[in-house]
Amino acid sequence: MSENCSHDCSSCKESCSSRDKKSFIKSPHKLSDIKKVIAVVSGKGGVGKSMTCALLAAASQNKGKVTAVMDADITGPSIPKMFGIHKHATGDGTGILPVVSDSGIQVMSMNVLLENEDEPVVWRGSLIAGTALQFWTDVIWTGVDIMFIDMPPGTGDVPLTVFQSIPLDGIIIVTSPQDLVGMIVKKAVNMANMMNVPILGIVENMSYIKCPDCGRKISVFGESGVDAIALENGIPAVAKIPIDPELTKAADSGKIEELEHNYLSDFLDKIVKNLK
Ligand code: ADP
Repeated sequence: MSENCSHDCSSCKESCSSRDKKSFIKSPHKLSDIKKVIAVVSGKGGVGKSMTCALLAAASQNKGKVTAVMDADITGPSIPKMFGIHKHATGDGTGILPVVSDSGIQVMSMNVLLENEDEPVVWRGSLIAGTALQFWTDVIWTGVDIMFIDMPPGTGDVPLTVFQSIPLDGIIIVTSPQDLVGMIVKKAVNMANMMNVPILGIVENMSYIKCPDCGRKISVFGESGVDAIALENGIPAVAKIPIDPELTKAADSGKIEELEHNYLSDFLDKIVKNLK
């Protein structure tokens, strides 16, 4: 226990013996049915966490699983744009209904609640974390096999609330080669260990480019260190996504579900196999 313990575990990140890990878990909406929940995390912004989350969801839906995406990146929501969603969420008095993408993925995001999607969310941390939690407690998620949560980057209020309040089956860490200087990934690994959540896999995004003429893989940021990091931390699955203009184009035009090649399809199979 910390010397400065205030006995308020909800605002403390210490993993001391008196903390009851289960005590903060919140039930989803009483009409929700969600089998597995996987959070997609990154140490910093811009590494492709939302891209990874969207690709995993598209692959999962494509494999016939009922899939949902909870966009917990409240201040920087990019999931609806990637799926071409511009509708607003509706409610029926008992709860909020997610918006459904063209291929049938259930999506909840701050951007489907705002009157105008360009409006910034300038809120204090506790309000932001409370909203992310409401996406779990107040949204009616129907018959979901796998839910992916797009977390905001880092280890702030929202990741802490999600880790403490939602019964996660595991996390997937997203990194980029420059990010792999180790420390930032290590922070995410340590947070997951502190919260007792299994790390299911690691994705190195923007890992390489493919020469358009000869197809050779070029590691623009130097040789990848992700396999060594995975080995060192006992992470069972690794995926590498190249810098691919087709991905940017699909994400920007809201057609992420229509991509012919999904780089995370095989990775998802490994993840699902390792789920308890
Ligand atoms: P984060 O969620 O980590 O902040 P995003 O997933 O929003 O990052 O990605 C940032 C930008 O980079 C987006 O415009 C996205 O379309 C683009 N992007 C991400 N990964 C790739 C990739 N492998 N190839 C090309 N563009 C990518």
